[in-house]
Amino acid sequence: MGATIFAEMSALAARTGAVNLGQGFPDTDGPPVILDAAVAALRGGANQYAPGPGVPALRQAIARHQRRRYGIDLDPDREVVVTTGCTEAIAGALLGLVDPGDEVVVLEPYYDSYPAMIDFAGGVRRPVTLRAPDFRLDPTELAAAVSDRTKLILLNTPHNPTGRVLDADELVAVARVAIEHDLLVVTDEVYEHLTFDARAHVPLATLPGMAERTLTLSSAGKSWSVTGWKVGWATGPAPLVAAVTAAKQWLTFTSGAPLQPAVAAALDAGDAFPTALAHDLQAQRDQLVTGLRAAGLTTYLPEGTYFATTDVSDLSWASGGDFCRALPERAGVVAVPSEVFYDDPDAPGCGRHLVRWAFCKRPEVIAEAVRRLGGAD
Ligand code: GLN
Repeated sequence: MGATIFAEMSALAARTGAVNLGQGFPDTDGPPVILDAAVAALRGGANQYAPGPGVPALRQAIARHQRRRYGIDLDPDREVVVTTGCTEAIAGALLGLVDPGDEVVVLEPYYDSYPAMIDFAGGVRRPVTLRAPDFRLDPTELAAAVSDRTKLILLNTPHNPTGRVLDADELVAVARVAIEHDLLVVTDEVYEHLTFDARAHVPLATLPGMAERTLTLSSAGKSWSVTGWKVGWATGPAPLVAAVTAAKQWLTFTSGAPLQPAVAAALDAGDAFPTALAHDLQAQRDQLVTGLRAAGLTTYLPEGTYFATTDVSDLSWASGGDFCRALPERAGVVAVPSEVFYDDPDAPGCGRHLVRWAFCKRPEVIAEAVRRLGGAD
């Protein structure tokens, strides 16, 4: 196993002093409510092992959040498990639910831990590609990816790296295929609060017939700007949550104790912070996309997440990877080549020439990156 693209690109940024628009993490802290609650928990003695499935206060707060925001009813004792970031929820779901030889249908481009964990579980991935410029999910291709060996569909919306927020038609297509073939769906919704232009994120679990077959994954990192805390969760039917909990015993056993009550406090404080964050991110998206276009880069407008995508093929680079590895020296900016998120980046409409830029940075940082790229600002 080599270094992930995120580790490679952040190291490149550190070495060259480039503006890092690669790895997706904000350069501002989360709100006082979450930080103060963490300090209080640290000072209040919450420093020994938490219960394996998570501290009850957090499981209850997660259930309240799902009820308040989406009308989803969960039993916090059986239908919620706390994980060490969504990354552990992904690992636990795949290790807990996929047997060797099972097939997993996954959206492509995919977040890089998906193929890694499908491999760890001994599963076989069947990618369904979202193609530029629209990155829409084609229901025919989705149906064609399913076989009698398919165990589950691994969904991600809002989608990293494309920034797509799947719409009602696409979600219905997923639900239809899952119900017809009696499949589970694991859906990574960590960017659930971070959508733009009044677009609503709809959890797949809210569609008819889906609650009983859908395991929903999310985390505090993106919504409350605490990506380094690594507090995530999985929610859904008790047997699916039990599978994640069982796998978790051998992954981390239990997640960081003082951060859990702090995340509970943030969830119970309501959605004002994530809503304001999404508003700010939308402005930062516009700033970056305008700047990249002014610099001559073909850029797609994302509907959510931290990320915008450009196509560098008309700049005569052999690949987005070549472009990204030259960019820090040439321009003092780091981005991530999306080619690593595809099985075959040279297939039609795939990502050999696509590059991902993070706009979860302060406006002055985005302005400096745009200036270095020659897009004025
Ligand atoms: N999810 C973030 C991204 O896509 C961070 C990934 C990571 O560092 N593993 O950039």
